[in-house]
Amino acid sequence: MSILDDLMINAKTAVDAVGKKAEMVIDSSKLKYAESGLQSEIHKKERELGSFVYKSYIAGEMDKDALAKMVQELRELNESLESTRELKNLRKNKHTCPTCGALVSADLSYCGKCGAKLVSAADKEAQQAVKDAEDEILGD
Ligand SMILES: [Zn+2]
Repeated sequence: MSILDDLMINAKTAVDAVGKKAEMVIDSSKLKYAESGLQSEIHKKERELGSFVYKSYIAGEMDKDALAKMVQELRELNESLESTRELKNLRKNKHTCPTCGALVSADLSYCGKCGAKLVSAADKEAQQAVKDAEDEILGD
């Protein structure tokens, strides 16, 4: 394998790694965006369905195919919302490693991917409390 091939492979790996990192960062906000988008879409469909049923009732006839289609759409939207929430829950109790950007369980002390020491939220709070106390004692 030539040096050029090596360089190409390294560049590709780097691009992949950056891409993955960006994907991870986007994910969490994407999930929130998807959740609120799905919720409003579901509300819209529910209103449509309600109005459709109401009009059909008044008219004394119902287009069953149209009804089935609406119900199916609503069901799919609800399923998407459910999986979006599941994904959000999966992300809960996970921290992003400050060194490599991997998602790691919040109760771990070390990143499983790169081995960096992870500072837990509780530790951070404790550190901040100590710092605040120091600031207070030492003054400006
Ligand atoms: Zn790491």
